[in-house]
Amino acid sequence: MSGKMSFWFDASACSGCKACQIACKDRHGVEAGRLWRRVSEVSGGGWKQEGAAWRHDVFAYHLSISCNHCENAICLEGCPTRAISRREDGVVLIDQDVCVGCGYCSWVCPYSSPQYDAATGVMSKCTLCHEDLDLGLEPACVGACPVRALDAGPADELAAKHGAPPGAAEIPPLPAAHLTEPSLQLAPHAQAGRSGEPEVELTPRPPRGLREWSLVAFTLLSQMAAGVVLFAAGFRAFGQTQDPVLMPLAAALMLVALAVSGMHLGRPRRAVRSLSNWRTSWLSREILLALTFFGAILLAWRPGWLAAQWASAPAAIAYLTGMAGVYRQRTVPVWNTWRTPAAFFLAAFELGILGSSVLLIATGGLRVTPLLSGLLIAAVILALFRQIRRRRDYYSRYRRIGI
Ligand code: SF4
Ligand code: SF4
Ligand code: SF4
Repeated sequence: MSGKMSFWFDASACSGCKACQIACKDRHGVEAGRLWRRVSEVSGGGWKQEGAAWRHDVFAYHLSISCNHCENAICLEGCPTRAISRREDGVVLIDQDVCVGCGYCSWVCPYSSPQYDAATGVMSKCTLCHEDLDLGLEPACVGACPVRALDAGPADELAAKHGAPPGAAEIPPLPAAHLTEPSLQLAPHAQAGRSGEPEVELTPRPPRGLREWSLVAFTLLSQMAAGVVLFAAGFRAFGQTQDPVLMPLAAALMLVALAVSGMHLGRPRRAVRSLSNWRTSWLSREILLALTFFGAILLAWRPGWLAAQWASAPAAIAYLTGMAGVYRQRTVPVWNTWRTPAAFFLAAFELGILGSSVLLIATGGLRVTPLLSGLLIAAVILALFRQIRRRRDYYSRYRRIGI
């Protein structure tokens, strides 16, 4: 066998029987609820009035999609632990002894391929049955298809054998091929041209597996910590002495945020491995910048250490930039805009200013009337609720992207 491996799929031939999906589960012992290969129905159309008559133009066809062992695999680029690698023949694999179960590969994959295995706390996905390929056998899903709608093998051989038209593997609801360059050749269904229509449905949709509460808590607490540090820098810029309670507040917020972020991992004891892929992974960079920021706050704690206090402000800005980089990924178009960093910086300023003001009032560093202090406390609670709602909305928009 030579050349990069690829899948070939004929959407016109597929009957939606799901034999490939079941054969894959059977071959790899994947439990109910987790799918390495997913057969989805693309359907659309409706009733239309033509004169006195009503006619329908409904359509439905199926797509059988697994990991596409992409040439430009964003999962590999984004994985903070370097658990994902690509073999010489193009097969993309997850090393489950290295994975921390952060789920980031699943976030950024536009095909939702990596699946969280709750039993082991790590990710898993299609391996292209590489053990079978190495023995010259075909993958289980390919062998199980009763209508030969699926095939796998070296890309050039598949192209010569089936001659799939170029560009068909990115017809909606499949994502644009330039995002990851999937190893997928596809013969489109006759109705594929209509699959971009607004009322078209894809069922079932893959689960996104975002463990949201810890992500929401982590981002909001650490944004507030960054905001408190920037608020303190503002105080100093106007010639005021920094109040001694601000850095302890920022440190406490950051400590809780880091502890909460560990709860997001399937394998928290391996967390330190998340620092290893800072060259390509924004998640790795974010964690490094978060730890640097935390260290800068601890150094700035001592009232006399002015240089450390000033250094904590750029550390906060770098950290917020790193956090935005985690979300601004080319495969998540709704997040990949300037609005993402803008929203994170605005949230940091809002939460930081309000949180600092309340603490200063409570500790006597700022004297205001009881009415104003009550209003400020109410504003902090409202701001937190609004940010939580915004963040949940942010994640819910994410779910509508890709297949
Ligand atoms: S389909 Fe997703 S998981 Fe598979 S190689 Fe491409 S980006 Fe990675
Ligand atoms: S460490 Fe995270 S990104 Fe890497 S494979 Fe595991 S879950 Fe995916
Ligand atoms: S190639 Fe193997 S692992 Fe991948 S979907 Fe087919 S049966 Fe499953």
